[in-house]
Amino acid sequence: MTGLPEAAIARRPSIGVRIGASTVGGCAPIVVQSMTNTDTADVAGTTRQIAELARAGSELVRITVNNPESASAVPRIRERLDMMGVGVPLIGDFHYNGHQLLAAEPAAAEALAKYRINPGNVGFGRKKDAQFAAIIEMALRHGKPVRIGANWGSLDQSMVATLMDENHTRAQPWDAARVAREALIRSALDSAARAEQLGLGRDRIILSCKVSGVQELIAVYRDLAARGDYALHLGLTEAGMGSKGIVASTAALGVLLQEGIGDTIRISLTPEPGESRTREVIVAQELLQTMGLRAFTPLVTACPGCGRTTSTLFQELARTVQEHVRGKMPEWRIKYDGVENLTLAVMGCVVNGPGESKHADIGISLPGTGEAPAAPVFIDGEKAMTLRGENIAHEFVDIIEDYVARKYVQRG
Ligand code: SF4
Repeated sequence: MTGLPEAAIARRPSIGVRIGASTVGGCAPIVVQSMTNTDTADVAGTTRQIAELARAGSELVRITVNNPESASAVPRIRERLDMMGVGVPLIGDFHYNGHQLLAAEPAAAEALAKYRINPGNVGFGRKKDAQFAAIIEMALRHGKPVRIGANWGSLDQSMVATLMDENHTRAQPWDAARVAREALIRSALDSAARAEQLGLGRDRIILSCKVSGVQELIAVYRDLAARGDYALHLGLTEAGMGSKGIVASTAALGVLLQEGIGDTIRISLTPEPGESRTREVIVAQELLQTMGLRAFTPLVTACPGCGRTTSTLFQELARTVQEHVRGKMPEWRIKYDGVENLTLAVMGCVVNGPGESKHADIGISLPGTGEAPAAPVFIDGEKAMTLRGENIAHEFVDIIEDYVARKYVQRG
């Protein structure tokens, strides 16, 4: 490929945290994670969705653990996944009763690779400290890391009240948004400090401070990142549906990732009715890949089309090619070393078609208005052949398959 060089992004130094066989932070690549939306007590349905998310490329999967039924389902889900050869680490998401569930179901505490707690609703009043300590004690007993995930929607109200009081004593009081931001960050940092006092090492702690606004998220994480070296989980909470959710998440996370902030990401999309949950995994992968931070699946560069295009052939071809490589990746990933770095281009006419196609490993320039009905194919920057007729899509996919088999070394 002869594309422009990618800008190197210096990652903010952070402490690596082992989660099962994965590592978040330190020198590890940025990890993609996702969350199920099944009832965890439904062992078959949850196992199916976790496997689907893992096969799509999710490297960690979070599941809700909210009652005794879901807690008792966790080890059975783990067992089924292991039998299916799906080793993805599971994260338990606890609110309000995590201390009770982990104590009552030691097999669940053991089967989970990490616990996620929210300092805003670990417990209330005088019970809060004891319940927080009980969860940290369980993490220590089972050797598990903990994500301390503060959230705008469940802010620790005692922390807000304390900071409001502090704010009144300032010569120049902060505005309410800044106080709320500080409350969110302090909630996470103070809880992390408390966990450390209880014996949990910094290499067992991940922090997150999620909000639902793009600018607020950027401001919160810039501040949080500057105030410690804990590994950070990034995500815009309640991002929403469809293009709005994708745009808001990628706008916020893109800025932070470009600044080297973030060790693991989740794109919190609300699926359209009937839509697969795996979309959030694909968006997370595409965000990291288009930024040049990681490679997961060969990406197809395609032009948007314009008045020079006479048909939807190039749109259909671009979709066919992207679906083909995505469908083949589970097999290719096992078989061929480095195949995720393959680049492809499907272009609509001669204006940018040959040039863009030469920048890709394999590119095709389809005929635009007034052009001869021929589609030159470029391989490694050189024109290799010309396709014609009704069977272009099929023949182009065969060319890709042949290239992959020739170019990439088969794994031992
Ligand atoms: S490559 Fe051709 S068809 Fe595609 S957008 Fe550019 S001018 Fe239009």
